[in-house]
Amino acid sequence: RLEIRNLVRAFEGRRVVDDVSLTIMPGQVTCLLGPSGCGKSTTLRMIAGVEMQDSGEIWADGQLVCDTVFRVPPERRGIGLMFQDFALFPHLTVAKNVAFGLSGSQEDKRARVGELLERVDMARHAESYPHQLSGGEQQRVALARALAPQPRIMLMDEPFSGLDNRLRDGIRDQTLTLLKEEDTAVLLVTHEPEEAMRMGDEIALMRNGKIVQQGAPYNVYTRPVDRATVSFFSDAN
Ligand code: ATP
Ligand code: MG
Repeated sequence: RLEIRNLVRAFEGRRVVDDVSLTIMPGQVTCLLGPSGCGKSTTLRMIAGVEMQDSGEIWADGQLVCDTVFRVPPERRGIGLMFQDFALFPHLTVAKNVAFGLSGSQEDKRARVGELLERVDMARHAESYPHQLSGGEQQRVALARALAPQPRIMLMDEPFSGLDNRLRDGIRDQTLTLLKEEDTAVLLVTHEPEEAMRMGDEIALMRNGKIVQQGAPYNVYTRPVDRATVSFFSDAN
């Protein structure tokens, strides 16, 4: 379970993340939805630990991860990341890419990598190099790599937006199903209402650095808080 409390980040005096609080439950997908520039990626980067907040706190499973004085480094947060530029290591095989962040015995690692490659239907490409794969195949490998260490929390920043529609739906559904099966708390960033409506158990609607509305997709869609929200939903159609 991921908890964000009163997160603030300003650039050049402008608050791009302005008092954001959110709770993301295990086994649930929370979509952070909002127009370009509203502060979604900045929020995710602070949770990941690659950007420092000006104020506010981040908690994971009841443990303080970060406030203004205390800070767990990114690699020890138990938080998985899937971003749009999911770059695989070009000089490593598919299997080695997936094994990269894993600890334990060689045997355990091999078993885990094999299982994950099966799940994303890439087992036959285990010894291939990234440049020998299509974009969608590379993305499936990146997914397996992100899932490998079994993070309790997964942050996804428009990880499906580079794919063609048909491929995207399959990979997106498959990814989120796998994450739910592992009871991961997922925060998925998107600027597409349709994606949030379809994938989210919960939607947090962001505008100008603030969460303006939060709830089940149906409620957010049928009971928009204001005109700006109505036009955001209808402009996207
Ligand atoms: P998109 O949907 O286009 O990815 P976003 O919601 O992810 O948008 P952010 O990347 O969080 O938006 O950026 C929010 C605002 O903060 C933008 O106006 C951006 O220009 C600004 N910003 C982000 N990082 C920096 C930085 N390092 N220095 C100055 N301004 C920044
Ligand atoms: Mg962004």
